[in-house]
Amino acid sequence: MSKGSEEIFKKVISHAKEYGFVFQSSEIYDGLSSVYDYGQNGVLLKNNIKNYWWRSMVQLNDNVVGIDSAIFMHPDVWRASGHIDAFNDPLIDNKDSKKRYRADVLVEEYAEKLLQKADKEVRKAALRFGDSFDAELYRETNSRVVDYLKRADSALSRFSLALNSDDLKAARQVIIDEKITCPVSGSSNWTEIRQFNLMFGTKIGSVAEGATDLFLRPETAQGIFVNFLNVFKSGRMKIPFGIAQIGKAFRNEIVARQFIFRMREFEQMEMQFFIMPGSEIKWFEHWKASRLNWHKSLGFDHENYRYHNHENLAHYANAAVDIEYKFPFGFKELEGIHSRTDFDLKQHSKYSGKKLQVFNPDKNENFTPSVIETSIGLDRMFLSILSECLEEETLEDETSRVVLRLPHALAPNQAAILPLMKKDGLPEYSKKIYDELKINFQLMFDSKDAIGKRYRRQDAIGTPLCITIDHETLNDDTVTIRDRDSMGQKRVKVADLYSIIKDLTSIERLLKKL
Ligand code: ATP
Repeated sequence: MSKGSEEIFKKVISHAKEYGFVFQSSEIYDGLSSVYDYGQNGVLLKNNIKNYWWRSMVQLNDNVVGIDSAIFMHPDVWRASGHIDAFNDPLIDNKDSKKRYRADVLVEEYAEKLLQKADKEVRKAALRFGDSFDAELYRETNSRVVDYLKRADSALSRFSLALNSDDLKAARQVIIDEKITCPVSGSSNWTEIRQFNLMFGTKIGSVAEGATDLFLRPETAQGIFVNFLNVFKSGRMKIPFGIAQIGKAFRNEIVARQFIFRMREFEQMEMQFFIMPGSEIKWFEHWKASRLNWHKSLGFDHENYRYHNHENLAHYANAAVDIEYKFPFGFKELEGIHSRTDFDLKQHSKYSGKKLQVFNPDKNENFTPSVIETSIGLDRMFLSILSECLEEETLEDETSRVVLRLPHALAPNQAAILPLMKKDGLPEYSKKIYDELKINFQLMFDSKDAIGKRYRRQDAIGTPLCITIDHETLNDDTVTIRDRDSMGQKRVKVADLYSIIKDLTSIERLLKKL
């Protein structure tokens, strides 16, 4: 991470804590590594993100329904899904720094650096050659650029080939051959690579002898697969259709740094779309485009999103793409779209002995549907939004303010009600407005400190509107309404407040853009 990006990331983390968005779990006991709690503003923002996802997925798609399955599942689920055998990360230690890494991440970051070097060469050449510059041709012919691209490609493909064939020695050799060093010690004194299973184990039952070993689910998807027939029958569904779910997942991550980007307990928003075999590519492309559009509808810089095709396909997938977001520490996976074939349903049929098939009347036969999955980490989405929206703005009078430019519909509070002074009946009048509007909106009431200070507090937590009640209000039932982004103020009637807030902050506005 460059110094500048590190600074930005540190600011995001400290802002999240200072303003009640995210706290370290069990902080008074010195914290629990890579586990976080959401504070009073964080939980509101998180719920709004969930709402945006849920409503766009379940409410706007006629053929998608939602469920909420249990975290505990029968242990055979994880045998059938392949998690017991294959939900591993390749782990490697640097003997000098004693730091532990995911070997695949080391290689990916190495390749990413080479790609960035190639891009830099192309940008430099573009400046040198001006309008006549052909970037594509330059990529194909400039020896330095070609070399960077080749090295990146070779490292990634050698590594993924080695991992796919379970050859950990060959995988380690890629790290040695490419002279990949530890970012802390700078040395390439590496241990062997070992596979490490990421599932947390626990037990159900009161006596040790009778207890059954269980796992905390590492993804929400399996709860959907095992309920496939239940939903299909009880909802009278027709292929194609989808089942969506939001819920907690648990992974004993090896390297759990980077704040809420990689946690040991996190939340996923997943949707499994069941389709006719043979239509995988059509639906894969559909959901790939649809999900990117969902992100872009938030109105953030489109340059901060990109697709990344998987080199190393999971055991169940025949096509996979990530939507990556440019976090302060670089482009990283935010969401995955996977074509999972009929793997999951067939595996669960095999292990449970229950037929998970549907009838095709055209062909007069039963078949196992294929699945396209969209899977997004809620916490990563939260982090991408905080990183995108946090801004230190220099104002015209050379002072500065910290403002969280959240999409209006996602802001923890839609408006703040601020009596200008704590006397002359202003607080009482303000409270009346507050009580009337709080039925429809999440509001803040703040009467402490000078008004300027209160505006800044609301800017910092992203409140789109500040409503100030002053002496004029008592005479003519008007208030000042201040816009977070422009800081512009205007006088409006109290009677119009409901429609003004609704117009600006309702989630329908976001949904209409989809
Ligand atoms: P990574 O390669 O970063 O470990 P993954 O490919 O294992 O991620 P998936 O299994 O595809 O991730 O999970 C789907 C989504 O769940 C990811 O796109 C990510 O947003 C989120 N996610 C996965 N692991 C974590 C984690 N440890 N903490 C927070 N979010 C996570």
